Amino acid sequence: MTKVVKSISSFLKDFGKATTEAELREVLLAQWDDEIGGTDDKHSRQEQFVSALEELIKSGKVRASDAKGKSSSRSIEYVKKNKRKNGNTGEEEEHRAKHTKIDQSEKEKGSLTNSASSSPAASAVAEYPDKPKPTGNNTILLFYAYTPSLMNREKHDAAIAHCYGFLKNLGVTGRLRIGREGFNGTLTGPNDAIRAFTTELRRWDNATFGKTDFKYVDNQPDNQLLPTLKVFPVTEIVTYGFNTEEAPLHMGGTHLKPKEFHKALENKNSVVIDVRNFNETVIGKFQPPENSADGGPKYLDPCMRRSTEFPEWVDNNKDDWKGKQVLMYCTAGVRCERASAFMRNRGVENVYQLEGGIHRYLEEFQEDGGYWKGKNYVFDKRFSHGADNADTISYCVHCDKPWDRYNAHQKCFQCKMEILLCNECQRLKPALKKSELFCPLCLPKEKEK
Ligand SMILES: [Zn+2]
Ligand SMILES: [Zn+2]
Repeated sequence: MTKVVKSISSFLKDFGKATTEAELREVLLAQWDDEIGGTDDKHSRQEQFVSALEELIKSGKVRASDAKGKSSSRSIEYVKKNKRKNGNTGEEEEHRAKHTKIDQSEKEKGSLTNSASSSPAASAVAEYPDKPKPTGNNTILLFYAYTPSLMNREKHDAAIAHCYGFLKNLGVTGRLRIGREGFNGTLTGPNDAIRAFTTELRRWDNATFGKTDFKYVDNQPDNQLLPTLKVFPVTEIVTYGFNTEEAPLHMGGTHLKPKEFHKALENKNSVVIDVRNFNETVIGKFQPPENSADGGPKYLDPCMRRSTEFPEWVDNNKDDWKGKQVLMYCTAGVRCERASAFMRNRGVENVYQLEGGIHRYLEEFQEDGGYWKGKNYVFDKRFSHGADNADTISYCVHCDKPWDRYNAHQKCFQCKMEILLCNECQRLKPALKKSELFCPLCLPKEKEK
């Protein structure tokens, strides 16, 4: 906790002016090893952050004030001890934002950050993409790549240094996890800078990146740029907590292209496993067609709060899948690679994974979403996206109104998982107590008491 408070303090000291809570949160979360693919420790870090922020507010170092200007977000003001100038110009603010530096060496040795190269974007409060579709010159890049063999320590260090240097020069921001086993990233930047990076990766290590499926989401406005660049070492590029012998990649499930997966969803002998965490599955999931008398394929949600719960869930359920076609999917494919290998290593047969994940499926079925219902939770500033006619399939935890935006930054009082709270419930006076808010997984238990 002390370290967290220190990081926030140093961030505020550097920033030295009012900023929105959303922006502050974003920068700090990015700093703390924000997970891409596996969200395991994200919630405890968010919780730490919220508590630390509250402490700062209590101590008077940070003032929570009402919304200013057009921002719909509560803003946080850093109270300067001695001098506080009024009448800052926008330019001054922009200049200062550009020079925001984050001290994070204590938290993560070897991790590298820089401040956003384009501050107007960095300081914009993230919004859901409105219809009509966004236009802009930026690209969001999603990719992962396992290396043919584990990198040795030197090569691992060199990979981090090379990627960081290249990305920094290009003015690209976002997060790139690099383990000895491979790479997993969500990056944002100008179209040509993003392409220059992927071209460089192919040139630099063709054995690893020659066949990588780089997923580009083009035409993004500046407010979709992630605020900082973080390139950092990890043990696993998705955190399952199992060792590689338990899930050797060559045992991974057979890849199915979106159209093949779509067809497989019509097979009544299928089970469909969602490998993502519950906060993701609740806003969007596959809904296989019902096949009348014989019963349709079965959708299975492990209801995980974190990926490390997956192995136990498999062991408890795998006997039910004998003789079935086991389909699995995740956001963009990376989580299925090890998860399917783990399942096969545990004796599950006929395992198939959706190639390119929900991301590629929705590209293929952009108009009506195919068998996909709701939104695809993502780890960039879109937060989620869906087919053109995507329905809302989830509800506010307090009033039960249809709601699918995680914009309240509230957590379940019991398990600390991110929860859905609608705008109206966020604005209730008096405000809802934290102890009144529960996720759908914890609520039934809570009612029994
Ligand atoms: Zn509500
Ligand atoms: Zn909960």
